[in-house]
Amino acid sequence: MTDCLFCKIIKGEIPARKVYEDAHTFAFEDIDPQAPTHVLIIPKKHVRGLKEAQVEDAELIGRLHLVAAELGRRRGIEDGYRTVLNVGPKSGQSVFHLHLHLIGGREMKWPPG
Ligand code: AMP
Ligand code: ZN
Repeated sequence: MTDCLFCKIIKGEIPARKVYEDAHTFAFEDIDPQAPTHVLIIPKKHVRGLKEAQVEDAELIGRLHLVAAELGRRRGIEDGYRTVLNVGPKSGQSVFHLHLHLIGGREMKWPPG
């Protein structure tokens, strides 16, 4: 999608600190980190958000989580991290290209705010 911040990051049109890429997914450091690890993992395919995902996106959604698990291993934060999908404006979703937050490296509170 042309007018999408995260599509532009995938294409290299907007700079980002890439931490992982494969044929289906792309991951980069969040610009406003909420923890020592705060990475955004996104599909290369433009999907607006979880609400808009279709059955054919099921594998892709799984892939985002498997990338999170791999990055959790690489960063040595397996004693506690969180994966978060904000869905809809009341959740705080501000970018409408599906993105999985990987947050870790500190104590996590429950329930989240
Ligand atoms: P959400 O609030 O779930 O839609 O998450 C959007 C996330 O994107 C926020 O955590 C922002 O800090 C992050 N973000 C916005 N613009 C950029 C950017 N140019 N590079 C990296 N992260 C960004
Ligand atoms: Zn997009």
